Amino acid sequence: MKNNGRKIVIVGGGIAGLCAAVYALKCGYDAEVLEMHDMAGGLAMSWRRGPYTFETCLHWLIGSNPHGEFHENWKEVFDIDRLKFINPREFVRIETEAGDCLRLYTNADLLEAELMARAPQDDEVIRDFIHSVRSLGKFKMIDPSGGLAQNLLPMLQDVPILPMLRRLGKMSGKEYGERFSDPLFRQFFSTGDMGKLTAIAMVLSLGWMNENNAGYCIGGSQAIVRLIEERIRQLGGKIRYKARVNAVLVEQDVAVGVQLEGGEKVLADWVISAADGHATIFNLLGGRYVNDEIRKIYEERKTFASYLQVSLGVAMDLANEPAMLTRIVEDPIRIDPETESNHVAFRFFHYDPTFAPPGKTAVTSILPTRNHRYWEDLRNSDPMQYRIQKRRVSDAVIEVLEKRIPGIRIAIEVVDVSTPASVMRYTGNWKGSQEGWLIEPGAGFKSLPNTLPGLGRFMMVGQWVMPGGGLPSGPMTARPAVKAICKQDHVSFDVHPEPETAVV
Ligand SMILES: Cc1cc2nc3c(=O)[nH]c(=O)nc-3n(C[C@H](O)[C@H](O)[C@H](O)COP(=O)(O)OP(=O)(O)OC[C@H]3O[C@@H](n4cnc5c(N)ncnc54)[C@H](O)[C@@H]3O)c2cc1C
Repeated sequence: MKNNGRKIVIVGGGIAGLCAAVYALKCGYDAEVLEMHDMAGGLAMSWRRGPYTFETCLHWLIGSNPHGEFHENWKEVFDIDRLKFINPREFVRIETEAGDCLRLYTNADLLEAELMARAPQDDEVIRDFIHSVRSLGKFKMIDPSGGLAQNLLPMLQDVPILPMLRRLGKMSGKEYGERFSDPLFRQFFSTGDMGKLTAIAMVLSLGWMNENNAGYCIGGSQAIVRLIEERIRQLGGKIRYKARVNAVLVEQDVAVGVQLEGGEKVLADWVISAADGHATIFNLLGGRYVNDEIRKIYEERKTFASYLQVSLGVAMDLANEPAMLTRIVEDPIRIDPETESNHVAFRFFHYDPTFAPPGKTAVTSILPTRNHRYWEDLRNSDPMQYRIQKRRVSDAVIEVLEKRIPGIRIAIEVVDVSTPASVMRYTGNWKGSQEGWLIEPGAGFKSLPNTLPGLGRFMMVGQWVMPGGGLPSGPMTARPAVKAICKQDHVSFDVHPEPETAVV
């Protein structure tokens, strides 16, 4: 694409900012991404400790199947076919300390057989659930940047499942789970944010897993990020690291660039913020471009919880363990003064050879909390107590694991704990949220506006624009933003997919 002589500056190098850069470059703009961290990815992150790599984000990527929904969308921003995906047989195994065990298979037939064997009296609701999983796996996504003409076919294909979507959309995960008598299956739907989310979220995800279209890619979320960064460079774009934006520069209600910490100004024809929504509106723009609707959203709408992550480098081959294991514990573990949990979830990354040397395994445990203030205050006011509390939580997690795999404690050679304070420090996300806005029952999936009232040549993208977040919210919000920019500039929006290549 011929350079059109205009420049877009993008605040934030998470998945959304990177996708915005690719779309902008493909349409002939100069694109410069300013990322405050020393690497790109934002929440799509992993970190190395000794010989281990600890992933925080990727459980599944929608669009992993070359013939599946959303695959072509990814191909507009990077060559997804260079990634190697695996589809675990079990999504998660849920166990009690007393020995009860439920295996939630990704294949709908196996899942149905497991649920029927455990609770034959629930046959009607199980069949209805499995029918929903199979049907929603065929769900066609609507392109938020497309008009009626582009979306007509997927909309028509979705017509038969609309009543199901409407019914599930009104229920929370917790309400949905209450239809089942199996206590472990009920627990699966009611745990943490899953219990508060619309039931569509989990049933739809299981549907995509059944279609092998929600796989895990070797190398985790950073493998995706690196390929998009590579594409940006190939297209002539620029990514600057350790470049924290302090303000969006505005002249006569038009964004004209940004100012970095240290004072440097980066001028541009357009500014796209792919950083945290709250910080963008109320800090970078000083709260000057808001209306009652936006204020109400930020005051009232619920966000996904933040989390602690306990990461363990274990000198043991744990290949016999499931990819994900949830242990229901008799003595709840205390995460912080306001938060207890009666379950601890583990991920055993034995299926990713890039995360640990042969014979060793990276293990992680995510512990949700909404008490981000406690962890931030502790880190700022009492670093020693902060370390002690992190140690207390990791000891409690290791205790749960030791009960399940006796002897594992002495094989642990690396312990790493991140907290909501780490999430905020490294990604800037408001309240340390994992995925932005929760989609509560009845709220619908509608995106928030990607412009601000009264401010010209400025756009927002990312998980704070698209409730529910997730990696697909990157391209799904970046595409309409760049398309709208092109329309205003009378530039053609041509974002051809990447060419086919062999898996490396
Ligand atoms: C534990 C966990 C599990 C998840 N699992 C999955 C999953 O399995 N599948 C899935 O699809 N999604 C998953 N997600 C969600 C997904 O990671 C996020 O929704 C997505 O990465 C958000 O991308 P983003 O670009 O909108 O925001 P972010 O990733 O937050 O990116 C924002 C970027 O802006 C930068 N920034 C902020 N302020 C400034 C500033 N002032 N100047 C410069 N740069 C700035 C930040 O450093 C960051 O890089 C998970 C998330 C978490 C935390």
